Amino acid sequence: MQRVVYAASAKITNRLESLDKRGSREADSLLQLLLRDAIKRRASSLHLEPQTTSTIVRLRIDGRLLRSKIISKHLHDPLVAAIKRQAELDDQTFLPQNGSFTIEIAHQPTSIHATCLPTLIGERIVLHLEPAEPTTSLQQLGYWGSPLTELGRWLALPRGLILLVGDHGSQLQQTSAAIMRLLQQPSLRVAHVSGSTSRQPSAKLNLALIDNPDVILINNLSGSDLIDTAVSAAASHLVIGVTSAASAEAALLEVASWASDQYSLSRFLVGVVFQSSEALLCPICRQVHPLSSVQQKLISTHYPDMGELLGHYRSTYGLPSIPAACYSREPKGCKACHHSGTNGQIAIPEISPASIRLKRLIINGDISLRTAQSELRKSAILKSDADHLTKALAGHIEWRSLAA
Ligand SMILES: [Zn+2]
Repeated sequence: MQRVVYAASAKITNRLESLDKRGSREADSLLQLLLRDAIKRRASSLHLEPQTTSTIVRLRIDGRLLRSKIISKHLHDPLVAAIKRQAELDDQTFLPQNGSFTIEIAHQPTSIHATCLPTLIGERIVLHLEPAEPTTSLQQLGYWGSPLTELGRWLALPRGLILLVGDHGSQLQQTSAAIMRLLQQPSLRVAHVSGSTSRQPSAKLNLALIDNPDVILINNLSGSDLIDTAVSAAASHLVIGVTSAASAEAALLEVASWASDQYSLSRFLVGVVFQSSEALLCPICRQVHPLSSVQQKLISTHYPDMGELLGHYRSTYGLPSIPAACYSREPKGCKACHHSGTNGQIAIPEISPASIRLKRLIINGDISLRTAQSELRKSAILKSDADHLTKALAGHIEWRSLAA
């Protein structure tokens, strides 16, 4: 009798094991399907949001978070387990976790950075998707005209600290990768330190300094140790500190408040690059119209510095004047843009060299969000609203209300 029970339980165990294996295989293929769809639609992130009876899958496409599909609740946990297996995360803990993995779809490798956040109704997952070998250049990202020339000048400097700041979803990592590729020359030694993934980023930076590199790119410049090491390294190396913040002044203030040597910071600070981004209108289905006289009048009434705008327009597009250009809006939606009307993102950079006044404010510890903002705006090579306007006039992005 006991043998029969034992045999039966072994049978159940085997069946459960095979079900489990089949379940995990199903979850693996569901994950593959979701990722394949996200990559095909050019999503920058995929979100799994558990609800009480289902799970909502959202995709961030061209900066907008869109609902993609709803999957049944019983698939949530196996899917989370499949992600954790891939990212080598602990399946038993209910603490927030981060991990990465790479997948290859249609011969195109994509790095996936996974964040798991436990909630009362299951784990929320965010998967950030990035092409493992991005090939975009600064021009392709939206750095044109005088901002590109100025950034090129900064990147040729023998020493100093450049802050590269971007807001959420602004393709900042792509910009830092494009800068890295631009600097990959046989005559230059470039070191790359990441503040987020390594446990002791300042120790890692010190280690990189032993090699005496020409340029050091620091992803996620934060924390007093790393900022202090970066500031002292800027005395004899070109240091590019990449950090994400809501504004240029917020990032600058954070660095100024963490740095213990205000004099060196002020002396070696080259300037701040702030990057926001906009959805790129689909070039296939966008409608191009000439500017109406009302729109022309609106521009000259609401844009205070027409000279700056005209100059940037001329140098970027080689067109004689704005009225000769076209602008477009409301793309119809087509197969190429998956009927969304947008296809990718474009950067709106604002590049501000550190002025003498700004340097003085840093040394005296007089710097505030307001003073930093006013100094950075004053010294900007091209104001971001001028760049925005020229890109809208040329039909690359949606026209933003000038009166706003
Ligand atoms: Zn389209």
